Amino acid sequence: MSDNSLIDALLSPQDPTARQSCKFIIVRGRLSDEAQHALDKAVDGIRQDAGIGKAKRFSATWLAKVLRSFGHDVSVSTIQRHVNKECSCDQPEE
Ligand SMILES: [Zn+2]
Repeated sequence: MSDNSLIDALLSPQDPTARQSCKFIIVRGRLSDEAQHALDKAVDGIRQDAGIGKAKRFSATWLAKVLRSFGHDVSVSTIQRHVNKECSCDQPEE
């Protein structure tokens, strides 16, 4: 992370009323139905692999690499947030 984005982050305290849109889901929206399905399976795979430790087959790092190699600009932390359900996707609708 560059200093600039750190400074931006430090100057932007969380606003509980504003939902951060999930970049992962934006990338997902650009894919075909079939690719979206495969992507969902990959996310499930990461969730299920979490905690196993060794012999990890799925990881956020792996998924970011795959997506980037196909031209989708998505960061490991974006994927990690989505996998951990810390993004806007899993917030209950109000
Ligand atoms: Zn998300």
